[in-house]
Amino acid sequence: MDNPNFEIHKIAKNNEIIEGLLYDYWNFTNFERREYRYTLKQLSHRYDIYYQDLLTNLMKTQGYIEINMLMGCQECRKNFKVFLRKELEALDKKSNNEWDIHFCVECYRKDTVRKINDTIDSINNMLPLGHKEGNFQINGTLSYMEKLLFLTLLDDNEIDPNNIKEHQWNNFIQVEINKSYDIINNLVSKGYIVAHRYDGNIKNQIEQLSLILQESGKYIDKNQESRITFTMDNTNKAFINLPAEHPSFRFFSRCLHNDVISSSVSISDIKQIESYVKNKRQAELLSIFLRTCKEKGIPYKEDNALNMVLSNMAEKFNLKECNNIIEYRSKNVIANIQQASRKGIYRHQTQHYFRAELMRHLDLIDKNPDMKRFEKPLDIDWAISQTETFVSTYIIRDNKFWSGLTVNEIISNWVSSLNVSPD
Ligand SMILES: [Zn+2]
Repeated sequence: MDNPNFEIHKIAKNNEIIEGLLYDYWNFTNFERREYRYTLKQLSHRYDIYYQDLLTNLMKTQGYIEINMLMGCQECRKNFKVFLRKELEALDKKSNNEWDIHFCVECYRKDTVRKINDTIDSINNMLPLGHKEGNFQINGTLSYMEKLLFLTLLDDNEIDPNNIKEHQWNNFIQVEINKSYDIINNLVSKGYIVAHRYDGNIKNQIEQLSLILQESGKYIDKNQESRITFTMDNTNKAFINLPAEHPSFRFFSRCLHNDVISSSVSISDIKQIESYVKNKRQAELLSIFLRTCKEKGIPYKEDNALNMVLSNMAEKFNLKECNNIIEYRSKNVIANIQQASRKGIYRHQTQHYFRAELMRHLDLIDKNPDMKRFEKPLDIDWAISQTETFVSTYIIRDNKFWSGLTVNEIISNWVSSLNVSPD
C-alpha cells in the first residue's frame, strides 16, 4: 500500500526485480516515528538474502522513495530521493549548514543580499551629504578654529594631501585635535576632508562587508559584488578636498594662512578657542598622568572624577607645574599603595589613590596660596602641536611655548590678539 508521505519509484529492470522487496523495505507501521513493519534481519530471512551488506547493495538497484521535506531554513520544502533507511535517518537530522543536505541555498542567497543591502545602506547613511556617489562636494564655510586646524593639516610637509596615511591621521588627531572632535567632524561633514577610512563606525561596517564577502562570496551575484567594491573603494579614502576655486594645495594653504591671521573673529569663534585650549590642556594632563601610572605601575581609573581633578589643576597651574605635581605626588601614591598592600588591600581597590592624592594637594595649595611652585620640564619626546606654534608665532607673536602658561593665560593672550566682530 502506498504511503501518503512519500512516493515509491522502481528503477530495477524486469530481470532484476525482487518482487515485493522495495515495498516491504519501505513499509512503515508508523511513518512519523520511523517504525518499520520488518527489521532488516526479518527482510533478509523473508527474501533469502543472507548478508545485510548484500541487502543494502540490492536496495540501491531496486528503487527509492521520494519524500518532500522541510529545508533547514524551516520555510522551503524540497523533494529528496532516499534509497536506504539510514539515509532517511541522516535526513531527519536537520541543520542549515552550508555542507548539510537541507541547506537552503535560495534563502541563504536572499539573506546574504539583505545583509549586504543593509550594511551598504547604513554606510551610506553615515557618509556626509555629497559623499555618496563618490562625488565629494564642499558645503558650508569654516569657522576660525576649523580654518586654523585645517591649515595645520594642510601645512604638514610629511602628509600627502591626496593620501593621508593612518599613522599621520592618528597623530594629527592626538597632537592637534586632542578632544575637540567637533572641529574635525565639521571639517569632514563640510567636505573639506574626506576620511571615511578612519571613521570607526564606517570601519566596522566595512569589516562586516568584507566578512560577508569572505563567507558568502560564492552566493553573491556580479551586481552585488560591484556594489560592495564601489562602497569599499568609496570609503577607503582619506584625503584633503581641494576646493574648485583653488588651483593647488599650496595656493589654498597660502590663502587660508592669510585668512586665519587677518580675519576678525566672532563671539562664537572665541567660545571655540576657549574650548579648544581647555580640551588641549586636559588631553595633555591626562597623557602625563597615564604615562606616569604606566611607568610606575600605579593603578588608576579613568573616570569623570579624575577628569575633574585634572581640569581643576589645569586652571591653577601651567603644564610644567602640573608635570611636577604629578611626578612628585606619584611617589606618595606608590608608598600608600605599598602600605595598603601590607594591610591586605587589593591593588584594584587602590585605583583612586592617585586622584585622591592630587585632590589633597590642590586643597593644600588653596589654603596656602603663597606656597612655592616648582616646574618640571616636559619629556624630551613631548610633541608640541603645530597649531600651538602657529598661534604663538603668527597670531600672538610672542613665540612662547604654552607649557609655561595656564589655560586662562593662553586664552587671554590669544583672544586679545584678535579683532572681535559681533556674530
Ligand atoms: Zn528556504
